[in-house]
Amino acid sequence: MSEKRTIGKRIEICDNKSNSAIIARGLSKSFRLPTERAWGLKQTLFNRLRGIKGYRDQKVLDGIDLEIKKGEFVGIVGRNGSGKSTLLKLLAGIYYPSAGEITINGSLVPFIELGVGFNMELSGRENVYLNGAILGFSNSEIDAMYDDIVKFAELGDFMDQKLKNYSSGMQVRLAFSIAIRAKGDILILDEVLAVGDAEFQNKCNDYFESLHGNQTMILVTHSMDNVKKFCDRAIMIENGKIACEGKPEKVAKAYEKLWS
Ligand code: ADP
Repeated sequence: MSEKRTIGKRIEICDNKSNSAIIARGLSKSFRLPTERAWGLKQTLFNRLRGIKGYRDQKVLDGIDLEIKKGEFVGIVGRNGSGKSTLLKLLAGIYYPSAGEITINGSLVPFIELGVGFNMELSGRENVYLNGAILGFSNSEIDAMYDDIVKFAELGDFMDQKLKNYSSGMQVRLAFSIAIRAKGDILILDEVLAVGDAEFQNKCNDYFESLHGNQTMILVTHSMDNVKKFCDRAIMIENGKIACEGKPEKVAKAYEKLWS
């Protein structure tokens, strides 16, 4: 699978006067999927001569327009496969748009995949320093936040053990606890409120609640409770297009209707 030729644009600016954090216009994303395998040069040439493309373009996002104001908490909802994660990855600059334009005003921190860069052979403590460095922190900055990271993750007794001996829940708790130290003007979160057990989720909810009003946030979630509890506005994506947008209660109703 490869990404289709990029003709869209992603622009990063830092404009303190504008009250927009994100503006997207006509945003589309297609992926190129192979349909027929060509074995070797001979067959590739043969396919070309016969006009067989050997791939098809799947349009995952189709003409998305959105504007997110500074300080807004916006929920993005929709069925699996509707294009939510692809939208977040376009906003984060992990993918480039096939068409359209995105402007990001300020620094953006994505919580899309937790624990990227974790090394299973190193201890929890060493991984805190490693992951912290990946997020751009210096050693002395990590020293200063180390105790808070361990306390939030509730892993005080385990930090000298190798990460491979942690349960997956423990690893996610540690990754999340490190990730939330990263400070950015815009946070984007993919289902991270769903990590860990109920108690840890409550702690994450309290953390996000404490940011509410001061921080621009985009949250992809299937939890309509979280949409209603945290979001100022919600957007439902269906088949790569915005199907419903507005007050969280209205969008939550539209989402629940998808299954009725
Ligand atoms: P959601 O987050 O709403 O579940 P995704 O954005 O993950 O949806 O996926 C939307 C569609 O795009 C799915 O059909 C998925 O298979 C496809 N898709 C996502 N990423 C890729 C990729 N890298 N290559 C090909 N298809 C992809």
